[in-house]
Amino acid sequence: MAIQPGAKSLRKIAVVGRGTAGALAAAGVTRLHPDADHELHHIYDSRIPVIGVGEGSWPSLVQHLQELTNLPHAAVQQRLKGTRKYGVAFDGWGRRDRDFIHYFAPQQVSYAYHLSADFMAELLHESTRARHIDAKVVDIARVEGGARVEFEGRPPERYDLVFDARGFPAELHPERHIELPFVPTNTAVIRRCPALFAEGRDGPILQHTYTRAVARPHGWIFVIPLTVHTSYGYIFNRDVSSIGEVEADFDAFLETDGVAEFEQRAVIPFPNFVQRRMYDGAIARVGNAAAFMEPLEATAIVAAQLQIGMVLHMRLNRAPEHLERDAPVVNRFLVNNMLCYGLFVGWHYSCGSKHDSEFWRYARDDAWPRHRTAADPEAVDCAALRRFDEMLALMKQPVIDKADWDRMCAVPLTSYCQLSQGLGC
Ligand SMILES: Cc1cc2nc3c(=O)[nH]c(=O)nc-3n(C[C@H](O)[C@H](O)[C@H](O)COP(=O)(O)OP(=O)(O)OC[C@H]3O[C@@H](n4cnc5c(N)ncnc54)[C@H](O)[C@@H]3O)c2cc1C
Repeated sequence: MAIQPGAKSLRKIAVVGRGTAGALAAAGVTRLHPDADHELHHIYDSRIPVIGVGEGSWPSLVQHLQELTNLPHAAVQQRLKGTRKYGVAFDGWGRRDRDFIHYFAPQQVSYAYHLSADFMAELLHESTRARHIDAKVVDIARVEGGARVEFEGRPPERYDLVFDARGFPAELHPERHIELPFVPTNTAVIRRCPALFAEGRDGPILQHTYTRAVARPHGWIFVIPLTVHTSYGYIFNRDVSSIGEVEADFDAFLETDGVAEFEQRAVIPFPNFVQRRMYDGAIARVGNAAAFMEPLEATAIVAAQLQIGMVLHMRLNRAPEHLERDAPVVNRFLVNNMLCYGLFVGWHYSCGSKHDSEFWRYARDDAWPRHRTAADPEAVDCAALRRFDEMLALMKQPVIDKADWDRMCAVPLTSYCQLSQGLGC
């Protein structure tokens, strides 16, 4: 068995939050910690609901869930009420008025899941060995050699490492959060409609499915097929369009899509941001507590996987004396990656869509140009903008050298090339 020099300084761990990010973190600790007698507290406030949406993913989740659960892929997919997502089908985006698919690479081989977030959390809980504490956390603070969690109505506890997965911050502060004003949306209306793919009797659904991303006058609509229902979400900007306008256009879309009935689920406002301090050696913010950049391209779960994996591997595999020096390096790496995701997502709006509406003019002409100031290396202390610019420059070259084929800026060069072709920019 590999020697993990950090394990001895990682005896008592807390995960705060039981949404997708908290569930992944708790299962990750259970899976990766080499000593069975470590102590894991999974803390959540049952009065604060999980966000529950988050039904698209990236291919790394397929392998990851198999490792965390020790179940075969087919069983995992069925437990998730899932379908196989081979990419995102864009409709009406960009300046070419041409529909296109953003495939995962290798195309038609690599797939992710469309999944039910509730069922995924349930599956992960079964793979977690933890003491469950149902209580409100009022503060998480650094103390010598660890972090202290303060609760409402129970004594505080000290931990060697705390994963803070409490979801979106209540408000953004420029000194703590990098805001992403170049992402032009901030609200979602969620509806559930009947399933398009019935659960197979003998196994998981093998058909290739795609998340549809349909440009609409007030933003865009996602369509995610699960075996229990089809999830629809209208993503828009509440400062540009009224909820009434959005609901009316949503109705019109469902009618043309042939959907006769739907269940209205929620209206969810969301921030677009990256925490400046995601990891300080003892506290790791993960999931929506760490960063978010609207649901286009489903970057949240894959980002949480990266945050949790990076922190756990560093803490377990590096000797404790490196901790203080490692923490800022890990933090910068994560901030850089999250910001690259943000730039990739914001860029989708840079060529507008087939709709010449107030929203799309705002997205293209007002919001997107702000990315240069928002991601200025001086302001964000990382090189995300340079890496993003390099990807765009690479695509302009007459020949892309083979040595560059594997380049990434949060997502692979193949993703940038497909989007560039599809959008016409
Ligand atoms: C419209 C929309 C669509 C999305 N679609 C996708 C998608 O397709 N793919 C994707 O990857 N992501 C998507 N996301 C992101 C999705 O929200 C996240 O992937 C995922 O749900 C992570 O949430 P979380 O676990 O960080 O937080 P939450 O689900 O908000 O969970 C927070 C947890 O913390 C607990 N908590 C909060 N405060 C306290 C406290 N003070 N004390 C104790 N416990 C506390 C709560 O009880 C809860 O358990 C979408 C988001 C939105 C808004």
